[in-house]
Amino acid sequence: MVAEKFCGGQIVNEVTRCLFVAGLLLSVWSATAVANDPAFKVLAFYSTTVEPDHVHVANDALVFFKDLAAKNNFAFESTTDWDKLNDRDLKPYQVIIWLNDFPHTPEQRTTFQNYVEHGGAWLGTHVAGYNDESTKWPWFVDFPGGAVFCSNNWPPLPAKLIVDDHTSPVTKGLPATYDAPANEWYLWKPSPRLNKNVRVLVTLDPSNYPLGVKDVIKEGDLPVVWTNTKYKIIYMNMGHGDKIFSDATQNKLFANAIVWLGSK
Ligand code: ZN
Repeated sequence: MVAEKFCGGQIVNEVTRCLFVAGLLLSVWSATAVANDPAFKVLAFYSTTVEPDHVHVANDALVFFKDLAAKNNFAFESTTDWDKLNDRDLKPYQVIIWLNDFPHTPEQRTTFQNYVEHGGAWLGTHVAGYNDESTKWPWFVDFPGGAVFCSNNWPPLPAKLIVDDHTSPVTKGLPATYDAPANEWYLWKPSPRLNKNVRVLVTLDPSNYPLGVKDVIKEGDLPVVWTNTKYKIIYMNMGHGDKIFSDATQNKLFANAIVWLGSK
């Protein structure tokens, strides 16, 4: 009302200025909305009724990935409900992680197979990639490259690892070798390296042999991080105990892996 006491031109100027400010606010709001939209969404599955050392690593992983998500603009959610492996619940997510277990029902398994065969990305750590005669899931043996669990060291021990391939976004910025924190390392026979579709990214340095006290790995090709190029997946053997996320180089490997899996 105050503006009406002045000339018509000034009222027009007020209106124009209001519209301009409103437009500016709207564009700032849209830009903020775009900036806050997660680049991709991740759902991590884990179990709390498995080996205590595997539960421990899952809890550490949740803290690590939540922090990573905030810094890298992706959404991270987790669940212990493996029945969420169904088409409807998986729809919002571009990446699935299995931290310390794998699906046990035919429905969960079929959903997962369908998910990765249609472009869904997967990160499996440690026991998530395990298989033996009790697993009874032949597709899942072929999926990461046909590697069959053979043996492991005990107790968990640190080990020197060799970064085989520096051209992958997953190993970008990593040194030629690094000393990985204590883990229960899995030896696979056959080695996934024998599969022509597998690209091994990190391998246990043979200088670690003999590795173990109670259970000793004496020799053998022991890839620890790899992808099967038929899918968008990464398997990382690290995942036992309370040291897994204690090393900056290894954390970078986890971070690179998830960012690559989430990329289009
Ligand atoms: Zn383990």
